[in-house]
Amino acid sequence: MTLGEHQEAFARDLASLINKAYDLGYKVRIGEVFRTPEQQKVYVETGRSKTFNSMHLKKCAADLHFFKNGELCYPRELGEYWQGLSPINSAGMFWKSFVDAPHFERRN
Ligand SMILES: [Zn+2]
Repeated sequence: MTLGEHQEAFARDLASLINKAYDLGYKVRIGEVFRTPEQQKVYVETGRSKTFNSMHLKKCAADLHFFKNGELCYPRELGEYWQGLSPINSAGMFWKSFVDAPHFERRN
C-alpha cells in the first residue's frame, strides 16, 4: 500500500469516526492533522511528543476534541470504534507510556 493509499484510508476512517461521534450525540472540534518536521521537533523538545516518527508527519493522524452538553470529553467508545475500523488504527487514549487522549492515527 502506498503512502497516498494510507492517507486515503485514514481520511475515510476519520470521516466515519466523526459521523459516529455525531450519531452518539457528541460534537467534534478538529485539531492538528498535518505537522511539519520543524513543528515536530518543537513538540519533542518541549515534551508534547515523544517521537520524531509521528503519523502527523504523514497526514495519517488527527487530534479530535469531543463535547457533550458543553463538556470536553474523550470517550472510550470512540477510541474503540476507531480501532475497530482497521487493525492498524490506534487511539492515543489507550497508549500506556504516553497517553494522548485526542489522538487518532493509522500506523504505516
Ligand atoms: Zn496527535
